[in-house]
Amino acid sequence: MKNAHPDRSPLERRAPKLTGERTFRPNYISFAGVYQCNLSCPHCCVPIEWPDRLDIGTALRFLEQAHAVGIDTLGFTGGEPFLYPEFLTALTRRAAELGFKFDKLMTNGVWHTDAAHAEAVLSALRTAGFSGKIGLSVDKFHGMDIAKLAEFCRVTRAVFARDTILSLSYASRAPDKGLEPIKRLAVALDGVVAWSEMLGRYMLVSDDLTMTACWNHLATVERAEDLPGDPWDGTWFQEDYCEGPGQALIVNPKGEVKPCCGFASDLDQLTIGNIHTDSAEQVIAAGRAHPVVGTIFSRGLSAIRDEILARDPNALPGATSNHCYFCWYALTRGLAAGANGGGGKIGAWVGDRPNFSGELIQLGTRTGSA
Ligand code: SF4
Ligand code: SF4
Repeated sequence: MKNAHPDRSPLERRAPKLTGERTFRPNYISFAGVYQCNLSCPHCCVPIEWPDRLDIGTALRFLEQAHAVGIDTLGFTGGEPFLYPEFLTALTRRAAELGFKFDKLMTNGVWHTDAAHAEAVLSALRTAGFSGKIGLSVDKFHGMDIAKLAEFCRVTRAVFARDTILSLSYASRAPDKGLEPIKRLAVALDGVVAWSEMLGRYMLVSDDLTMTACWNHLATVERAEDLPGDPWDGTWFQEDYCEGPGQALIVNPKGEVKPCCGFASDLDQLTIGNIHTDSAEQVIAAGRAHPVVGTIFSRGLSAIRDEILARDPNALPGATSNHCYFCWYALTRGLAAGANGGGGKIGAWVGDRPNFSGELIQLGTRTGSA
């Protein structure tokens, strides 16, 4: 599950901050302990076939380093995080001791064998100190068992004794599209789905549960490349400096660190370090010095677009309102200055490709004190 994992996307886009220095200054860390998943969704851009698991000791060391440089919020993503529950409880316990705030733990909510299994795993997480939300990815791509998902919701509500413990994420082409599976879940929970003017989003409300529904703009990348519809919809994205899904250290099961949970973040071109070899401080410095990441968080994604179009007005097929689709397109084709092409790992763009200047550039490695 990745942000747009579809479910991997615990963080939503939001308006850019108007004050302060514009630079890469992450305040959020998220770990994906495993790539593996019990589902196989058609839009998934996680390489769920890969068996890598993040070593708990190495992750704890990086968590402590992140705390030391001022990062104060922790989330979890995957793959399906609950396939590696001992990782979740170990990281949660240490984060709670350090005073971290907890964000979302993203799950598909159907990984358990039965209610007793879910209760045991969730109780261990609560005891370890998890005080964030359990984020459920519910959309037509997940093709999940709604009755089992409703069971997970009831067990989670009972274990954490909070009516707001759960939230929902769905990936679609527009916020008012793709809500059908959430409506089916509402029926199974004796609840309703309604629009909240105050929150500006849909909510699922029942006697026991209040869940907000977070929308992710579906990007037709990786496995979803062949989904119908044209991502070049004729409108340019609104610059937001990737404030929502970015300003983060997202650690994948190989230990690679990404600056965001956006759809393109699985590309090697967006790797800014590895927790096996780099400290949190070094990773942040590498992000600032990175030709793409450094630009996005200081001058914006639109600076990358403008540079591409200034060089070649015909370099792009059109305009797109989807930030991460544009990012993925530019990076896989080698259109962004300083980045080579190629990737993602499981899409149709396998292997290195040169960038626009014909140069092959090594990215994602330590940049030392840069
Ligand atoms: S739930 Fe679906 S989208 Fe999320 S990691 Fe599993 S296969 Fe991918
Ligand atoms: S546009 Fe690129 S850098 Fe920004 S969130 Fe999406 S994948 Fe990440």
